[in-house]
Amino acid sequence: MAKSINKCHECNIYSIKDSCPNCNNKISEEKPGKFSVEDKYGEYRRKAKKEILKEKNLY
Ligand SMILES: [Zn+2]
Repeated sequence: MAKSINKCHECNIYSIKDSCPNCNNKISEEKPGKFSVEDKYGEYRRKAKKEILKEKNLY
């Protein structure tokens, strides 16, 4: 697993490299608090909740 994912805001491309593979701009790690990151964690949370509900239904 990659430690961090960098994003080029010009191309909307994610890369684990320091520069964008498309425009070669220097790109930086996505900071928490941005919409995309929140969405990602929200998805995780929803999935986790679903898993918990599923397990509860088994009992
Ligand atoms: Zn780019």
